[in-house]
Amino acid sequence: MKQPLITFKILRKEYLNAIAECCKIIPLDRWVHRPTTIGLTSHKTKYGRAYSTGSIELNKCFIGSQAYTQMRKTLRHEIAHLSCGIARGHDKIFKLYNKKFGGTCEVPKHETEELKHKIGFKWFVLAHLINGESIPLFAAHKRTKKYLQYETSQSISKFKGVLIKRFEYVNYDQYTKKTNSLTGDVSC
Ligand SMILES: [Zn+2]
Repeated sequence: MKQPLITFKILRKEYLNAIAECCKIIPLDRWVHRPTTIGLTSHKTKYGRAYSTGSIELNKCFIGSQAYTQMRKTLRHEIAHLSCGIARGHDKIFKLYNKKFGGTCEVPKHETEELKHKIGFKWFVLAHLINGESIPLFAAHKRTKKYLQYETSQSISKFKGVLIKRFEYVNYDQYTKKTNSLTGDVSC
């Protein structure tokens, strides 16, 4: 079954669901850090981070992917950090919380591959249509002639029947940045 690509809105909804579920397992008044915000990070090796401020950041590689299992697993892992306390790191108590919260499920290999591929993107390709609309097309590792020289080439592309005036490469980090600035100690 094909699931929709993960958007920040979907991620946020999953986060709220996960918080609600975990509160049923361990009542919120017993959590070391109360959950506050959910944001994105562009870290190259970590899927997520939790902060003593109660903030959680998930890697922006989830956005535009279909890695639902890994997203849910990471959310629960980070929520477990908040619940038992970040200072514990990955000790026995953390592992117990993480297991209770569902942070130890198995992730299908295709999800891991998809995320690994996405984590290194530098560019995002936008199509500017003749009707003034700008459509985000896809993420890319490098810029290619096909899009850089589109305006001077003879080829004409359409998006849903509307002529594309020009393509634009925008910085992937800036394009996907939707997160609030966070402070605090870091844990994966
Ligand atoms: Zn961790």
